[in-house]
Amino acid sequence: MIGLAQRVKKVYEIEWGSIDNVASFMTLVEELAITVAQIHCEPPLPIFPTKNTKNFIMACKKSNDNREIIRTTLSSFAKQKYLMKDIRCFSMIYAEIARRDHEIFFRNFRNANVFKGTESLNDARMLYPLVHTRREAVLIVGGGIGGLATALSFAQAGIRVRLVEKNNNFREVGAGMQLAPNCSRLLARLGVLQQVQANAVFPKQIVWMDALSGERLTCLDLGPKFVERFGYPYIVVHRADLLNALYEACIKNPLVTLETNRTVVTVDERPKSIMLECTTGMRYDCDMVVAADGLWSALRKYVCDDGDPLSVGYVTYRGTVGIDQVSKESGLENVQFWIGPDMHIVQYPVRRGQLFNQAAVFKSKLMPDHTDQWGTKEELNERFSTGCDQVKKILSLLQTNFRWPVYDRNPLSKWSRGRLVLVGDAAHPMLQYAAQGAAQAIEDACALADAYKKHGPSNIEAVFHEYEQERIPLSSKVVHFARAIGDFAHQSGNAKTIRDEILCMHDMHDFDCITWLYEEKRNEKK
Ligand SMILES: Cc1cc2nc3c(=O)[nH]c(=O)nc-3n(C[C@H](O)[C@H](O)[C@H](O)COP(=O)(O)OP(=O)(O)OC[C@H]3O[C@@H](n4cnc5c(N)ncnc54)[C@H](O)[C@@H]3O)c2cc1C
Repeated sequence: MIGLAQRVKKVYEIEWGSIDNVASFMTLVEELAITVAQIHCEPPLPIFPTKNTKNFIMACKKSNDNREIIRTTLSSFAKQKYLMKDIRCFSMIYAEIARRDHEIFFRNFRNANVFKGTESLNDARMLYPLVHTRREAVLIVGGGIGGLATALSFAQAGIRVRLVEKNNNFREVGAGMQLAPNCSRLLARLGVLQQVQANAVFPKQIVWMDALSGERLTCLDLGPKFVERFGYPYIVVHRADLLNALYEACIKNPLVTLETNRTVVTVDERPKSIMLECTTGMRYDCDMVVAADGLWSALRKYVCDDGDPLSVGYVTYRGTVGIDQVSKESGLENVQFWIGPDMHIVQYPVRRGQLFNQAAVFKSKLMPDHTDQWGTKEELNERFSTGCDQVKKILSLLQTNFRWPVYDRNPLSKWSRGRLVLVGDAAHPMLQYAAQGAAQAIEDACALADAYKKHGPSNIEAVFHEYEQERIPLSSKVVHFARAIGDFAHQSGNAKTIRDEILCMHDMHDFDCITWLYEEKRNEKK
């Protein structure tokens, strides 16, 4: 006799396609009947009593607080024998309830004799139809970089996970990404760095340019001294290449199950689990949920309803062009950061140097709202028309199909509630100016898997506590750091003059200002 937890798990994992004869069906009858009675019906479906089933029925009726009686009853072989007759009938009631979903299969089992008990249906109400409910230990919502990295981290720790994604495939919209050593280090741990690097570019420097005068202000050298200091190089990639590497590693791992077309819409906290429901009606009854559903997270509200993400009116236009369209003056081997009053441009090559990524960011004169009437292409052109000749050339090649309002949020002091926890942009969306959003999402993924491995599924509270202790302070600092970079880069007037002087004095091998962010964290050394 298997334990209750295993029984429930087994029932949820039934492969209906494999039940093609009476014998295989009957082996499942007991599992179905007991599980339905215990957790799915209100009032519990009645089983026609015999002397031997009395305890069992009573236990079913008080299923929430009397599981021990059920367990004892079922663990006795003699009692099981007597129970089977009732359970068979009971399972047919279940079959009747579920018939719309399993019409073809159950048609074979219908006859007047077994269905004599179906009048019980009048009193029974299915709370969560078994057919549409999956039992999961760890469910991840969202298949972006944060969600896939979480799935992979858990699987590498030997933990089975299911990930649900609302789109019909796993894709990244957008262009390039910069991946600093703190990100590369964890990609190595996840076993995908080699694949990511195979499609990456290794820039020589990050160069800061004055967008108005065209002068070079300073640079950070990314050569051997940088790599020696942080252990990993600074790379730039197409975001689809990063996502693909994570996705492929996930599908190769037998402990990861990925599902698409699943938009989670409701969260329902239950005494010993958390139930999520998708727009399709599919439900997941979980021990733990990881919300990796991004900037506009629907699940974040369950932890903290702090309204919409924040905007101060900046918009990004970005995309890639073929490298042959770009002149060599554009600094093809570097990350170039052109800064000006309330605007900047970032450029770098991606995809083994075949594509050139460009992003132009500026502050709209209009108040941000939910429309696309502010930060328009016209405003973009007007704003950058004050730039130097190189900036104007960049604008002439810029892709303007996608408009991205720039958002972040104030850091939270808690990322979890009950059995649900946030990772990535759902937890700490940040301005893109520090190029750290994806890196921080991957740091979350690894830290959460480590905490889960340490404390185990029976102590979710300790898992979340350790994860939050480790990740909230650092990611909050990055949120503020990204804002500070924006303020620094977008200066005008006297503040700009002072800023430029500070930048010009910077030593290209002085990495102190970013060591706290790029270096290996104490916990990663464990
Ligand atoms: C212009 C720009 C440039 C950037 N540059 C960099 C950079 O250089 N370096 C860097 O590290 N970061 C950068 N970032 C940040 C980085 O892109 C994000 O921080 C990162 O992609 C967040 O990943 P995520 O998985 O948390 O969220 P997302 O990528 O948003 O993924 C969320 C996923 O959840 C799914 N989903 C949403 N709701 C539901 C639901 N209800 N049910 C099921 N699924 C759902 C979505 O379809 C999506 O697949 C940049 C961001 C921007 C905007």
